[in-house]
Amino acid sequence: MKIICIGRNYRDHAKELQNPVPTSPLVFMKPPTALLLENRPFYIPGFSKSVHYELEVVLKICKNGRHVQPEFAAGYYEEIGLGIDFTARDLQSELKAKGHPWEKAKAFDHSAALSPFISIDEVDRNAIKFSLTKNGEVVQQGNTSDLIFSFDFLICHLSQYFKLQMGDLIYTGTPAGVGPVAKGDKLVGYLEGKELLTCEIR
Ligand code: ZN
Repeated sequence: MKIICIGRNYRDHAKELQNPVPTSPLVFMKPPTALLLENRPFYIPGFSKSVHYELEVVLKICKNGRHVQPEFAAGYYEEIGLGIDFTARDLQSELKAKGHPWEKAKAFDHSAALSPFISIDEVDRNAIKFSLTKNGEVVQQGNTSDLIFSFDFLICHLSQYFKLQMGDLIYTGTPAGVGPVAKGDKLVGYLEGKELLTCEIR
């Protein structure tokens, strides 16, 4: 399986990091070894002094497909969850400045926290509310109605380049409010007000 991630898919987040709003999806990947499951703690890696949380809605691909056409896109994901795209922001800035790929800053071990999944039928896919608290304080609030590239658009677009396979995950981008984590922090992710993901930082 593969983990496909979308960068800068919410305008307010692109702006907060002084990045241009993209005209086509910004895509990167994480390997399966990046997964952090079952609310396990996240250990800050030694190579970064500034790891940021990025809360994102995650799609789970439920069938194989290439060159998916718009009218069929919604059939490729039946379940969604929440994920945290942990990012070594200091390292990412260095890599960006050099024009290098982001993998070391984005795809390292346990950089992709993942919640259990719920059926997409339980929510309105075009207006899913999600939020993250850090030590009890709300730090991120998103709504998928603000996505620059919708879930269906992403399915069509990505499947032109990469065969989508059952079990693949798409991290669909983070809203504004990203920030650093420190040892002892507790992150909790909510989807439509329901607690779905917790992660302690060690
Ligand atoms: Zn992200």
